[in-house]
Amino acid sequence: MMPQLISELNPTARKIHRCMMCGGGIRPGERYSRDTLVYDGRIYSWVECPACQSDHVCNEVHAWTGGWYDEGVGIEEASEWAHDTIRFAKTEDLREIARRWLLRNSCTCELCLLANGAGS
Ligand SMILES: [Zn+2]
Ligand SMILES: [Zn+2]
Repeated sequence: MMPQLISELNPTARKIHRCMMCGGGIRPGERYSRDTLVYDGRIYSWVECPACQSDHVCNEVHAWTGGWYDEGVGIEEASEWAHDTIRFAKTEDLREIARRWLLRNSCTCELCLLANGAGS
């Protein structure tokens, strides 16, 4: 079963929100994406920062999972996707998207620290 989309909004943040796709912060005054969905009879919100939205991270992660992941993807799946993409992606564009994601996520795994030159 797939979640059903009820509304898509682009409100201006009035307080700090956390992006549900990368874990990065959305600052007050910033426009962000808020979808309202129904899943299994329950209503919930899906909040994304402008960067994840314009990079279509959600779609990329979905495609990466092969579409089998029925319950939707989140930060955990995106993290696996980003690390995988950094190493194995065929195009530089995709690698850039993954790199930006890892920066927003402030990932501190060994691989990311090495890539940022902090491990030397
Ligand atoms: Zn984000
Ligand atoms: Zn990492």
